[in-house]
Amino acid sequence: MHRSGASSERAVEMVSKDDPRRIATRLIRAGPSGAPMRTRTVAPPLQRGSTVLMPDASSLYAADQPTYGMNAHAVHEALVDGLKTLERAAYVELFTSGLSAVTGALSAVVSAGDEVLVVDSVYGPTRRFCDGYLNRMAVSVRYFSPTATAEDIIALAGPATRLIFLESPGSQTFEMLDVPAISRAAQARGILTAVDNTWASGLLFRPTDHGVSLSIQALTKYVCGHSDVFLGSVATNDAEVAEKLATFVKDTGASVSPDDAFQGLRGLRTLEVRLKRHGESGLAVADWLARQPEVQRVLHPALPGDPGHLIWRRDFTGAAGLFGAVLRPEGRSAVEAFLNTLELFGLGFSWGGFESLATHCDPQIKRSCGPLAFEGPLIRLNIGLEDPQDLIADLRRGLDALS
Ligand SMILES: *Cc1c(COP(=O)(O)O)cnc(C)c1O
Repeated sequence: MHRSGASSERAVEMVSKDDPRRIATRLIRAGPSGAPMRTRTVAPPLQRGSTVLMPDASSLYAADQPTYGMNAHAVHEALVDGLKTLERAAYVELFTSGLSAVTGALSAVVSAGDEVLVVDSVYGPTRRFCDGYLNRMAVSVRYFSPTATAEDIIALAGPATRLIFLESPGSQTFEMLDVPAISRAAQARGILTAVDNTWASGLLFRPTDHGVSLSIQALTKYVCGHSDVFLGSVATNDAEVAEKLATFVKDTGASVSPDDAFQGLRGLRTLEVRLKRHGESGLAVADWLARQPEVQRVLHPALPGDPGHLIWRRDFTGAAGLFGAVLRPEGRSAVEAFLNTLELFGLGFSWGGFESLATHCDPQIKRSCGPLAFEGPLIRLNIGLEDPQDLIADLRRGLDALS
């Protein structure tokens, strides 16, 4: 069919006789932009917008309202509000991933010449940022053992020590730190503390209740909960720290997409029920695993007999579904046979989603305070929301493939 551009445009132009403006202009003006919301839904409106239209010229430079769409929509506000409730914190900043929350928290509060003390069991990419970027910015970093006491850690601190960075349980190896005691000792010396609290997701342990300056979470894990969003947050009750975080976010343009914030809020609604199931199933599987002859040791602070159990019982209100297990000494190919036999466990990094995952950990573990003293290979399991009996049967098949 051949039709000239001019005649097709004329046809479209016929649509509205009473609007004298041309088609390009009318399309751009279409829709009720700025009109009040037509329907009231359970979830907040999902508005996408970089530009925010101001009601009049005098509002353009008004300090009391958002003038740009970065982290400024109803959905951001709703998520921040929910996270304040979760973290019992007065201030929350959103980040585009858990790692950007970690690096943002560190960058916001340290300056050239400062020193940061970091637990040796810290999440790998956090260590990479400390050793690379922070060192390049003339911030020195020293690591301390994940079995260190508050006294041990404070004894390391010098006049340049600005921040103590904690993670408890530790990534991959699940050692527990006495966060309340470390926080108290640090406060007495005027040193800030930060906790990567992703395992507890703000629900099982609240760092701010113990005076921790910065509570950091990869919302990507349990809060989002469906392995389909990257999101992070930093919570604080310290107004000075909050100001620095807000400035950092503004200065670096760390803006979260409204769609991701919407998914984060949706996950947050069901966090409590999901985490309970993750925790219960995780303990059932861990308890079974600890009794298998192929397993030397299960690393799970909620199991009685775990070195971190007393701290966990004192400070935590429940368990997450992520833990480790040390297998009896086997070569890499036997461990790979175990993983390849699993049907219900996906082989993938990350955790906190509804589906179970397994990895072996040894190739990625780095330590500054001396090597790990495990007898055999270390595996990590993320226990999802499947029935734990099916997961146990799957693991049994995997263990059979070890030999
Ligand atoms: C996954 C993870 C992060 C980073 O989260 P991303 O959203 O993947 O960047 C940070 N800390 C811990 C402990 C994690 O497990």
